[in-house]
Amino acid sequence: MTQIAHAERDHALLSASGAHRWLHCTPSARLEDTLPDTESEAAKRGTLAHEIAELKLQRIFSGLPTRKFNAELKKFKAHELYEPVIDDHTNAYVEFIQSIVHTFPTPPFVAIERKVDLTDYVPESFGTSDCIIIGAGKLYVIDYKNGQGVPVPAENNPQMKLYALGAFKAFSLLFPIEEVHLAIVQPKVWDQPSEWSISVTDLLAWGESIKPIAQAAYKGEGEYVIGEHCGFCRAKATCRARTEHMLKAGSKAPLKPPLIGWDEVGEVLRQAEGVDKWYKALKEAALSEVLKGGQVPGWKAVEGRGGRDYADIDTAFTHLKEKGIEEAVLYERKPLTPPQLEEALTKKVYKELLEEPGHVIRRSGTPTLAPEGDKRPAISNQVKPEDAFSAPIE
Ligand code: SF4
Repeated sequence: MTQIAHAERDHALLSASGAHRWLHCTPSARLEDTLPDTESEAAKRGTLAHEIAELKLQRIFSGLPTRKFNAELKKFKAHELYEPVIDDHTNAYVEFIQSIVHTFPTPPFVAIERKVDLTDYVPESFGTSDCIIIGAGKLYVIDYKNGQGVPVPAENNPQMKLYALGAFKAFSLLFPIEEVHLAIVQPKVWDQPSEWSISVTDLLAWGESIKPIAQAAYKGEGEYVIGEHCGFCRAKATCRARTEHMLKAGSKAPLKPPLIGWDEVGEVLRQAEGVDKWYKALKEAALSEVLKGGQVPGWKAVEGRGGRDYADIDTAFTHLKEKGIEEAVLYERKPLTPPQLEEALTKKVYKELLEEPGHVIRRSGTPTLAPEGDKRPAISNQVKPEDAFSAPIE
């Protein structure tokens, strides 16, 4: 089922999920292809969440018998990477899909984990769309994202537009399609799905516009272009273009003496964006190389700071209690934080028992520096002129 779909998804050189990268940095796909593909724990957990989401949709829309559903779900829940919050989040995804389906006057066509052909636009490419809904002239393409590190909005999202192009090609002869709606459900980031719409004409025009870029990417031609799209690139640690950019950014930091001005700080921060993450990724890559026996001149692997563990905690604590040590000394009793309780209780129960009766108050986040284009409103400590007279005198 999904496992096959995800394996296939990984095999397209120019994958839809990597489109934001190869559309910006055309040689990246061929370069990535030369490097090992290691799947992070977060990615594996994402695959598990997708499989659970798919199973739930199959039950509702494909008539999967309850017994089979329960047996499969039990297997997924026994997986070492399973966490209860996955159940809650995939329910939110399924509920969102149901809410869309219910807006149609008659039951729409629903395809789950459908492989779509993208070769009209991108050489040898295909993608697997989590959910496609078509009816009453509308095409919905919906994707579930399990990650929380990077918010993925639906607006102008190339992966989603490619899925929509694939779905349009597959189904437009069977169903008339006039409107295209894209939605990303990313429950760890947003309470509400991110939604965006595009006309069929604009979607097809976008498809045409990327054809030459996709051709260049397929051939591995073009300039290496660094940007936020490098974050998930397999070459992100050792890519020469990125390394040169990072080092250039570093050497610019001191600029000319004596002090840099605030006008320059903005540019230095912009240029040095990602230096910390890149440095960490490069150190991890070098460590794995020297641990394999390779040479990285000037560096070696050493044993890090160790820790202490009980040989057997039960035996140790029994021994301590026998020696008269009070339980209160041995254990720490700490209340769970609201986010931890939300995860333990599920979003719904947490909302009913804590948020709605007013047991949870929101505190403002610590001020953080963000690029000008960030969607959050700007804040300041400055006293506004109209508040100046009411401000307490210290
Ligand atoms: S790290 Fe960035 S610049 Fe280098 S190949 Fe990957 S996407 Fe391109």
